This record gives sequence, structure tokens and C-alpha cells, in this order.
Amino acid sequence: MIPSATVTITKLNHAFGQGMLRKAVLTDINLAIYPSEIVILTGPSGSGKTTLLSLIGGLRSVQEGSLKLFNQELRGCNKKQLTQVRNQIGFIFQHHNLLKCLSAYGNVRMSLKLHPEIPKYEYRQRAVAILDAVGLSDRVDYYPENLSGGQKQRVAIARALVAQPKLILADEPTSSLDSKTGRDVIDIIQRLAKEEGCSVLLVTHDDRILYIADRIVHMEDGRLQDR
Ligand code: ADP
Ligand code: MG
Repeated sequence: MIPSATVTITKLNHAFGQGMLRKAVLTDINLAIYPSEIVILTGPSGSGKTTLLSLIGGLRSVQEGSLKLFNQELRGCNKKQLTQVRNQIGFIFQHHNLLKCLSAYGNVRMSLKLHPEIPKYEYRQRAVAILDAVGLSDRVDYYPENLSGGQKQRVAIARALVAQPKLILADEPTSSLDSKTGRDVIDIIQRLAKEEGCSVLLVTHDDRILYIADRIVHMEDGRLQDR
């Protein structure tokens, strides 16, 4: 039996602006991503990659077409459904967006708090385990100001992965990292994806990390092409 897709996108269109200023940004997007699959999305700046990720992540409303996550249609769904869907996604952005007032542990714990099914007494143990997996076992109680750029990005990755999301959306996750740290981070994403069976959609300009992809799709002017 073919497993059901984590993400199913059919005839998705998206535009910014109104009236004369209306500009089509995504046109006729069709894409399915399956459990355990790592899909890399490439394409020039301004081609619509971040817009597509923000739609899949439920951060923007679907205008036209169908976008299903975990069999839930996002187009026209209510806030509660959207929140439920979002809580199953691990977001990794180009800029780490850590909360400065919280330690590495505190930042990672934020993700766990979104999951009422995870008991509080497991927070510390789970957070420490994932920080250890990203090579930060000796930085658990450090604040962002005392971490390097690479370490902060790893905390952000730990935060995205700690609640075992079914889908990871990563938008140029290595662009602020040196090449060694970038490769480590990619290896972590790959290892955790394969071990946990989650799907990954990763935007990158970095040819050196294409090797982890099961499939590469290319965006050009708001249209997807298989490579
Ligand atoms: P990429 O991530 O591939 O660089 P984006 O999805 O960020 O591309 O942007 C695609 C196009 O949509 C660009 O022309 C960009 O200027 C435009 N765009 C992105 N976000 C907005 C927005 N919030 N309002 C208006 N236009 C936007
Ligand atoms: Mg972008």
C-alpha cells in the first residue's frame, strides 16, 4: 500500500496585492511529499520559495487551489484547525529567531509547551536529548548572547525537532553557517528525518547539500519543475 502523503498540493495559485498591483507569485503548483522523504527546493531569489513554505506551514491563507497537510485541507479551515496543523510542523528559518530572554533549554521547551500530550516532567529530558543530538550538550543552559551563530542555529533546529514533527520546513537553514557547521546541521536533519520517518521540505542555494535529497524540485517564476 502506498502511504498517504504528508503534503498534497493541487493547482495552487497565490498572488500578492490587489487590483492593478496584483502580482501572481505562485502558479499551478502541484506537489506531494511522502513520509521519510526529503525534498529540496531550489530556485532563484524572488521565485516564490518562501511564499510556498509559508503557505504549507499555515502561516498564510490559501487563496486558490488545494493544500492538504496530514489529510487536513488548509484552504478555508478555521484557526483551531490551523493551529493543530502548525503544531505538527518543525520550522527552521534562515534566521534563527531565538528568544533572547530564554536559555537554549528554555527556547527548546517552548515547542514542547505546544503539545499538551507531552508531560511536563519529560521536558528537561527531551530537550537535553535533542540538544545533545545537535552537539550542544554542554550549552543547555546558555543564553543566545553567549552562543555563536552556528550554535544558535543548532538550538533553532533542536527547537524545531524536539516534539518529533511529522513535517520539517526549512528555509535556507545553512545560509548563516560556515560550511562545516552547515554540513553537521544537514546531517542532523537527515538522520532525524530518516529515524523519525518525517517529511522534509528544504530550500537551499547550496549545491553541496543536494546529496541528501530524495528529490529535487526547482522553482522558476512561481512555477515548479521536476529536476
Ligand atoms: P524566494 O523565497 O524564492 O526568494 P519569495 O517567496 O520570498 O521568493 O518572493 C516571491 C515574490 O513575492 C517576490 O517577487 C517578492 O517580492 C514577493 N513577495 C514576497 N512576500 C511578499 C509580501 N508579503 N507582499 C508582497 N509581495 C511579496
Ligand atoms: Mg526566500
